[in-house]
Amino acid sequence: MSQEYSWGRYPDVEQPLYPLRWETDPWPPTTEASSVLAHGQGRSYGDVALNPDGVLLATDGLDRFIEFDTQNGVLRCEAGVTLADILNLIVPRGWFLPVTPGTKFVSIGGAIANDVHGKNHHHAGTFGCHVNQLGLRRSDGQLHECSPDKNSDLFAATIGGLGLTGLIVWAEITLKKIKSTAIEQQALRFASLEEFFTLSDESDRHWEYTVAWIDCLARGNSLGRGIFYRGNHADGRLEQPEPGDYRKTRLTLPLTLPGFLLNRATVKLFNRWYYGKPLKSEALVHFDPFFYPLDKIGHWNRLYGKRGFFQYQCVIPRDRARDALPQLLQVIADSGQGSFLSVLKQFGDVTSPGMLSFPRPGVTLALDFANRGRKTLDLLDRLDGITVANEGAVYPAKDARMSADAFQHYYPRWQTFQHHIDPAFSSRFWRRVTQQGVSL
Ligand SMILES: Cc1cc2nc3c(=O)[nH]c(=O)nc-3n(C[C@H](O)[C@H](O)[C@H](O)COP(=O)(O)OP(=O)(O)OC[C@H]3O[C@@H](n4cnc5c(N)ncnc54)[C@H](O)[C@@H]3O)c2cc1C
Repeated sequence: MSQEYSWGRYPDVEQPLYPLRWETDPWPPTTEASSVLAHGQGRSYGDVALNPDGVLLATDGLDRFIEFDTQNGVLRCEAGVTLADILNLIVPRGWFLPVTPGTKFVSIGGAIANDVHGKNHHHAGTFGCHVNQLGLRRSDGQLHECSPDKNSDLFAATIGGLGLTGLIVWAEITLKKIKSTAIEQQALRFASLEEFFTLSDESDRHWEYTVAWIDCLARGNSLGRGIFYRGNHADGRLEQPEPGDYRKTRLTLPLTLPGFLLNRATVKLFNRWYYGKPLKSEALVHFDPFFYPLDKIGHWNRLYGKRGFFQYQCVIPRDRARDALPQLLQVIADSGQGSFLSVLKQFGDVTSPGMLSFPRPGVTLALDFANRGRKTLDLLDRLDGITVANEGAVYPAKDARMSADAFQHYYPRWQTFQHHIDPAFSSRFWRRVTQQGVSL
């Protein structure tokens, strides 16, 4: 058995992985005190994919393609297949993922269980919107076929179900047609949050992909300044290159860096430089750096040192965002704890099929914080206070510390969801946010 941490390396839990190769492979026996949990590629930041005292069922051996209808762009594969594997197969045949998160190194099972979103949420909704059906194995040995029409409640619980409804063994998704591997990209500097809102409203109509980077340490008149990126698939203007290998990283951070390298001064310098860097306002770029800039650096999570880091991602309803975002950014800037990568994006109105899905109409803010102990936890609690007061929500896939009260406020359907949990499945996250009194 190999060992696994979470992506944020907080909490500091290392736990065994029990490898699965076939969907019918037996699982280790569970007792009241020990449970199982499916584990994908471990790219969730906090503890949704951790189960201390229990066993993680490693799904990377469930990595076979089952069927690909190249005419209609319908793909069926096992749940451990990664988005990188899928891109390698589909892009040369003129198809693309309907929705992709900011890393391609995630499994399709993990993408469904967190109902991930991408830069096209305002057009396409979440990953779960494109899942036609899936196979779910429960601990009683039964395999359930679930879709919006068949076992629909279990389907809705499993999309965004944080791995708790059983083991997804296969899934079928509908892909998106593309004519080129290139993206027509525009990059535009904006000086304030008000300019962000204007740009975002205008761009969401004509641009399929939109996202903004913001300088999270800027204050006063510069609060909320940043760079807005928007893109559309290019229209066959580029030659289709040879099938690429989209799995590769180019550089790897070999060691965990000492935490002190990441301090207020270095982060401020970086943000100032990034905001002011020369911009190529229009460019034709390959999809890989457009969607997955961080994948170029393997193990970039080691940048934050041995104590690990948190990501905070919240969404604030649109009518509250103009008030709440300045408050969030002010608290972060005052704390001096923000980091390099702060992302702002407007979610659209497409309803997620999942009971516990995070995306909802509004503006989402995501940023990293190096773990500085109590100081950082207090800051995150303050951010939660603003999110709760503004009827927003925090993303479980990125979380390692939100309180049970906050979670239950963000996800009022959690009690209905509980009826669909497989009795043998549990996670550190779930125990934490439902306070079941079991050891974490
Ligand atoms: C650089 C980076 C960028 C990211 N960008 C985004 C983004 O833009 N949008 C976004 O939404 N997320 C984003 N994420 C988060 C990431 O997409 C999700 O956490 C994703 O779910 C991770 O998939 P995984 O295969 O690593 O699953 P894991 O992290 O291993 O597991 C995630 C959850 O899925 C469950 N699970 C995994 N496999 C199965 C299965 N076969 N059956 C049942 N349950 C299963 C686990 O139990 C767990 O609850 C990003 C993460 C990183 C590191």
